[in-house]
Amino acid sequence: MTLGQTMPERTPKPESLMMSHGYKPELSEGALKCPIFQTSTFVFRNAREGKAFFELAYGLRERGPSEELGLIYSRLNNPDLEILEKRLKLWDGAEECAVFESGMAATATTLLELLKPGDVLLYSEPLYGGTDYLFRHILSRFGIEAVGFPAGRGIGAAETSLAGPDLKERLAMIYVETPANPTNALVDIAGCAKLARRLSRSDRRVLVAVDNTFLGPLWQKPLEHGADLVLYSATKFIGGHSDVIAGACLGRKELLQRIRTLRTFLGTMTGPWTGWLLMRSLETLKLRMTCQMKNARYVADFLKSHRKVSRVYYLGHLKPGSPDYAIYRRQCSAPGSVVSFDVKGGEAAAFRVLDRLKLIKLAVSLGGTESLAEHPATMTHADVAKDEQLRMGITDGMIRLSIGVENPDDLIDDLRRALR
Ligand SMILES: *Cc1c(COP(=O)(O)O)cnc(C)c1O
Repeated sequence: MTLGQTMPERTPKPESLMMSHGYKPELSEGALKCPIFQTSTFVFRNAREGKAFFELAYGLRERGPSEELGLIYSRLNNPDLEILEKRLKLWDGAEECAVFESGMAATATTLLELLKPGDVLLYSEPLYGGTDYLFRHILSRFGIEAVGFPAGRGIGAAETSLAGPDLKERLAMIYVETPANPTNALVDIAGCAKLARRLSRSDRRVLVAVDNTFLGPLWQKPLEHGADLVLYSATKFIGGHSDVIAGACLGRKELLQRIRTLRTFLGTMTGPWTGWLLMRSLETLKLRMTCQMKNARYVADFLKSHRKVSRVYYLGHLKPGSPDYAIYRRQCSAPGSVVSFDVKGGEAAAFRVLDRLKLIKLAVSLGGTESLAEHPATMTHADVAKDEQLRMGITDGMIRLSIGVENPDDLIDDLRRALR
């Protein structure tokens, strides 16, 4: 380094910024931590300022070069939400982020904004139950046609699903959940982005949206693989303590501006208290997800060697040479902490195991600090018809585990006793 040269600026990693980014202590009496702005409305300094804020809120004039939307009313904006969104978008490298009162609110608001009657929505199966219901029973009422394709069978299967008359011409969005729940089957995000570009026309850009709840935001970054939007149930890893319901959508500014506007009118934003809890959670996101990911490997290896377990569904066990392994190497940086397995003996045997677990609690949901176990066929996927369940690879003996931050030997001990 010679005199006169400046050191290149190092951009800190997201985990280094989660404690301070976007917050100015001097605006809050010097408080080190961002307070909870538990207020519905904000006082304008004068009438002219109130007018200027509303002009921007309603898009009545262009935003000045360094002008930010002033605080008006907590359905539009609130410091806890704004700072949370600034922090959350760092993990995915997104331009913009909007947080919602649930993962379902994030997905519903996003799709209602971006789809219109006559559009086709192509989606990977299986999907989270709530999302599946939204697509098939609610969006259909608005004239949006949802068409499924099986995860884990390649992009060819996705295109084959569009073989019907004019489906390709009406395609507006490809919606992907990868890894799929509960089988961990993978969908190639870059492949979907390529298909979307190929089927786009100058007046109709086909968008790719990825529900990144299972591996994100640490182990999979869909925007880097060509996705337009990333969705989260922040109830899971982002919240991480099984004590809040929340969601998020991230992507380019022009899309997020539209989504945020609909959020204002549907009122699906999260409140300041939840926003504050999520900021607290983000400080330990990497610690938690790393510990859970390591624990899951011990558990998955134990299950694989157990004589009463016929199959383990775990990304860390994918075999080189298989199509899913190639996708995994391209788009995931770690196998995460959701592990499913088949117990020999079907539902009765699976129920015996679930009823005997002590440390691992019998509950749906995932991504929290505590380990959970559930039975997809009769619980999270009970709404899926039996023949469809089998087609998706959901067996009667399958148990889904979400691994927490406990000592891995205690988790293995609990499973060993339950399987005995
Ligand atoms: C939980 C979940 C959702 C829904 O999120 P909520 O916060 O419960 O509304 C959506 N997608 C996936 C993959 C989920 O696990």
